[in-house]
Amino acid sequence: MAYITGTDLAEGEEAETGMGAVSCRQGQHTRVAAPRKQGGNIQGSWSLGWKCLWSEMGPIRSGLEELWELRGHQCLQPKSLEPAPLLEKPLSEWPVPQFINLFLPEFPLRPIRGQQHLKILGLVAKGSFGTVLKVLDCARKCVFALKVVPKVKVLQRNTLRQCKEEINIQRHISHPFIHSLGDSWQGKRHLFIMCSYYSTDLYSLWSAVGCFPELSIRLFAAELVLVLCYLHDLGIIHRDVKMENILLDERGHLKLTDFGLSRHLPRGAQAYTICGTLQYMAPEVLSGGPYNHAADWWSLGVLLFSLATGKFPVAAERDHVAMLANVTHCDSEIPASLNQELSLLLHELLCQNPLHRLRYLHQFQTHPFFRGVAFDPELLQKQPADFVMETQVTQPNPLEFMPFKDFDCDLESFLANLIHA
Ligand code: ADP
Ligand code: MG
Repeated sequence: MAYITGTDLAEGEEAETGMGAVSCRQGQHTRVAAPRKQGGNIQGSWSLGWKCLWSEMGPIRSGLEELWELRGHQCLQPKSLEPAPLLEKPLSEWPVPQFINLFLPEFPLRPIRGQQHLKILGLVAKGSFGTVLKVLDCARKCVFALKVVPKVKVLQRNTLRQCKEEINIQRHISHPFIHSLGDSWQGKRHLFIMCSYYSTDLYSLWSAVGCFPELSIRLFAAELVLVLCYLHDLGIIHRDVKMENILLDERGHLKLTDFGLSRHLPRGAQAYTICGTLQYMAPEVLSGGPYNHAADWWSLGVLLFSLATGKFPVAAERDHVAMLANVTHCDSEIPASLNQELSLLLHELLCQNPLHRLRYLHQFQTHPFFRGVAFDPELLQKQPADFVMETQVTQPNPLEFMPFKDFDCDLESFLANLIHA
């Protein structure tokens, strides 16, 4: 989900508001969105729009206040898991309450009844925004990942537009190495994003194995080159390319996920919002822009460096200012022990000047590190990934097959109480 407070809109139109650094999963990397400049005078017309609505219209305000009050609703006792009668009111009610309307049409309204075929199998990740659950769709007999995001957090952090952009982007893209969206909907308190479940991500694997063999790095790199070229050709910048956002299928091929910071950025346009994950952010992003799609190629450089060496090229810092100071010295950090062609690739990706950074498909196709590699998704998918995939990383847990019906209750308290029980 998006940890963004300013939403950069069209070319030259940048919306920035107050922010806070938000940590992602524990033990992993901080993902941030920061204002570019103090007193930046361009406010996102969209975010201003809904704020005005909120302040000017009584019924809207009361709808949101009602939402806040519902945060207190606990689901600890079996009887409280039953849907509250309020939630089962007819959906054709008019006018549609604003706390529902705001999230339409990306998140269609779905009654609790429509979610009862889902069973929680486990907790996958607890992000700063929401929770990712492993669920069983009993009707389709299929396992899915379900991201559950409290609406209150989206509104508190002013990330509504970004949240809708995440769905719009994911709905309109289709690529063998991109994780596609299954379904999205809303309840009264939560947004739900469902997609197919993968048992591991690249970060978990990297944490377990450390350095990867060159063959695997070449395969991952080629797959990611194709993904980034595809997105950039569509005018989409991802802005959070990192190991945690790369899922692996059962054969070890990757699926880029988490479009929570992505946006449409036409070729030639520039962005200014300081956002991403500190250790992966390009110098031009850390310095507040202007930046463009070349920033994703820097992140790829950081990722490949880490896969090759088992450590990040630049140590983590507490904020983007300190990080920028570190990053400007990273040229000298590529270990001499690395294979020459790989070392050259890393140099050319971790290039301070975005204009000189590798960024076009033909540059990779002719690069010595990729000699003999066919940049074709079907052919790449046929290549075996030469490491053993962990097929089941979700630990057995007390949630397994919970007779849990109300996904729209105070899920956070529910999970916290169960896990600590
Ligand atoms: P966030 O906005 O919190 O970063 P993500 O979509 O990246 O949200 O999900 C958080 C984590 O949950 C990911 O880093 C990944 O480990 C796990 N995850 C997300 N989607 C899936 C999925 N479809 N299958 C398995 N794990 C997933
Ligand atoms: Mg993520």
